[in-house]
Amino acid sequence: MGNFRRLLGYLGRYRPWVVAAIFSNVLTAVFTVVSIPLLIPFFQILFDQAELVTKAPESISGVEDVQQWLNYTFSQYLTTYGKETTLGYVCIAILSAFLLKNLFRYLALFFMAPARNGIIRDLRTELYAQLLSLPLGYFSEERKGDLMARITSDTQEVEASILNVLEAVFREPLIIIGSLSIMIYVSPALTGFVFLLLIFTGVVIGGIGRRLKRASAGVQERLGDIVSHTEETLGGLRIIKAFGAEGYQGDRFATINDDHRYRLTRLLWRRDLSSPLTEFLGIATVALLLWYGSRQVFSGALEAETFIAFIFAFYNVIDPSKNFSKAYYNIQRGLGALERVAQLLDIDQHLPEAEDAIALGQLKSDIAFNAVSFSYGPKQPQAIREVSLTIPRGKSVALVGASGAGKSTMADLLARFYDPVEGSVTVDGIDLRKYKIKDLRQAMGIVSQEAILFNDSVASNIAFGREIDAARIEQAARIANAHEFISQMERGYDTNIGDRGSKLSGGQRQRLTIARAVYHDPEILILDEATSALDSESERLVQDALNKLMTGRTALIIAHRLSTIQQADEIVVMEQGRIVERGTHLELLEVGGHYAKLVELQEL
Ligand code: ADP
Repeated sequence: MGNFRRLLGYLGRYRPWVVAAIFSNVLTAVFTVVSIPLLIPFFQILFDQAELVTKAPESISGVEDVQQWLNYTFSQYLTTYGKETTLGYVCIAILSAFLLKNLFRYLALFFMAPARNGIIRDLRTELYAQLLSLPLGYFSEERKGDLMARITSDTQEVEASILNVLEAVFREPLIIIGSLSIMIYVSPALTGFVFLLLIFTGVVIGGIGRRLKRASAGVQERLGDIVSHTEETLGGLRIIKAFGAEGYQGDRFATINDDHRYRLTRLLWRRDLSSPLTEFLGIATVALLLWYGSRQVFSGALEAETFIAFIFAFYNVIDPSKNFSKAYYNIQRGLGALERVAQLLDIDQHLPEAEDAIALGQLKSDIAFNAVSFSYGPKQPQAIREVSLTIPRGKSVALVGASGAGKSTMADLLARFYDPVEGSVTVDGIDLRKYKIKDLRQAMGIVSQEAILFNDSVASNIAFGREIDAARIEQAARIANAHEFISQMERGYDTNIGDRGSKLSGGQRQRLTIARAVYHDPEILILDEATSALDSESERLVQDALNKLMTGRTALIIAHRLSTIQQADEIVVMEQGRIVERGTHLELLEVGGHYAKLVELQEL
C-alpha cells in the first residue's frame, strides 16, 4: 500500500493533467452508455413499431417519467416531421453520442501522455541521481545489470500500470454499471442468462491465458540463457579456442537452444488455439443469447428493438470487463516494478558528512594513515590491518606488493570511498570524516589503471565537469604528452573519442586521463600505475607525463613496475594488508628482504 501512495504522490505532480484525464474518462463512459438507448427509437421507426405517446409526464421523478418524456418528445417529432426526417434526427443523435464518446476517449489519452511520461522521467532522474550519490561500496559487478533493469524496464512498467489505474477506476466501472443497469432495466431474466454465459466463457478463456503466461515466462527465461551463453562465449572465445572446447560449448548451446525451441513450439500451439477458441466461444454465447432472446420476443415479453439495444449494451460490457479483470494484474505488476524502483531510491547508505564539516584549503603538512584497519564487510576478512603511514606534503609514497595485498584499498581509503573500521586517515592532522566530501575529492586527482573516458569530445574529457578553457586544456595536454596525437585527430580537441575512448590506443587513453588530472590540478595525487599493459614507446611517454604531473604534488602511488618508482621518497611493501617493509629504493635493496626479492623477480 505504501507504494500505491507513492504512485499517487508522483501522479500528484501532474494534477491538472490527471484531473483532465479523469474528467474525460468519466465523460467517455457517460457517452458510451447514452449511446445505447439511442438505438431504440431508430429500430422502432424502422420496424414501424413506434407507439405515439400524446401525454407529457406531469413531473419527472423517476426512470419511468424520463422514458415517458423521451417517448413523448419523440412522438411529437414523428407527428410534426414524419418518419424519414425523424430517422435522420435519430441518426444525428447517435452520431453525436459516438463522436463525443471517441473525442473524450482521445482526450483522456491526450491528457495522460504528459503525466505518464513525466512520471517516467521523474523516476529515472531520481534513480540516476541516486546512482551518482551512492557510495562506491554499493556497486558490485552483479548489481550492474539489475540496476540497469530498474532504470529502464521497471520504470516503463510503472508507466503502463498508471494508465490502467485511471481507466480501471474511473472509466470501466462506469461503463459496466451503466450498461448493466440498462440491461437489467430491459430484462432481468435475460441479464441473468447472459451472466451465466459470461462466467462460463470467462473461466475457460482466463484459464488458457494463465497457462500461456506461465509458459511464456519459461520461454523468456530460456531466451535469456541463450543470450547470456552467447555473451559468455564471445567474451571467452580466446580461451575456448585455446582449450579446443568448441565442441563442448557448442553442445551446451545446442541443449539450451533446443529446449527453447521445444518450449516455444508448445507455447505457440497453445497460443494459436486461444484466438479461434475465443471467437467460437464468443459466437456461441451470442447465438445462445439470440436464441433465448428471440424466444422472449416471440412470446411478447420483450420488444424487438429493445432486444437489439440489449445486445448492444451487452457488447459494450465485454471490453470494459476484460480490461477491468486485466487491470488488477497489470496494477500489481506496476506496483511490483515500483517496489523495485523504490527499494533503490530508499537506500540511505551515503557516506556521512559531519554537520559542521570544515573546508579543505591548501595542504599544509601531511597526509597520514593512523593504525588503520579495514574490511569490506562485517563477515569479510580484514583487507588492511593496523597500517600507519605518513606522506609529507610534496612527497611521494609508493605501495608495492602482490595482488590482493591491499594497495587499492589504501587508495580508496585516502579518497574516502570507504571509511576505516578502526584508526583514521588524516589530512593535516584532521580526520577525513571532518572535511567536506566535495572539498576532499576536489583536492585529490586519481589516475587509475583503466583509463576511464566518456563518449564525448577530447576537450570535454579533459575538462570533465569543469569549465572548458581551451588554452589551459591544450597546456594540460602538452604536459601529458597528448597534444601531438590530439592535434593529428580529425577535429582536434573537438573530436569525439567514441564509447569509452574506443577510438584511441591504450597509451593515448592513459595520457588523456593524465591530461585530465593536470587540468584539474589537484594537490594530492592517487596513481594506480598503469604502464604494464603498454608497449615501451607508449610507456615512456606515459611515464614521462606522470613524472611531470607528480612534480610538486603529494602522491600515493600504486606501483606495478618497480622500475618506475625508484625515485619515490618512500617505498612501502605490503603483504596481506600489513606493511612488511619500508624505506627508499636503495635502503630496501640493501636490506635484501621482500622488496629486493620483488625487484629480482621483475628483472628476470
Ligand atoms: P591490491 O590492490 O593490492 O591488489 P586490494 O586492495 O584490491 O589489493 O584487495 C585487498 C583485499 O581486499 C583482497 O583480499 C581483496 O579480495 C579484497 N577486496 C578488494 N575489493 C573488495 C570488495 N569490493 N569487496 C570485498 N573484498 C574486496
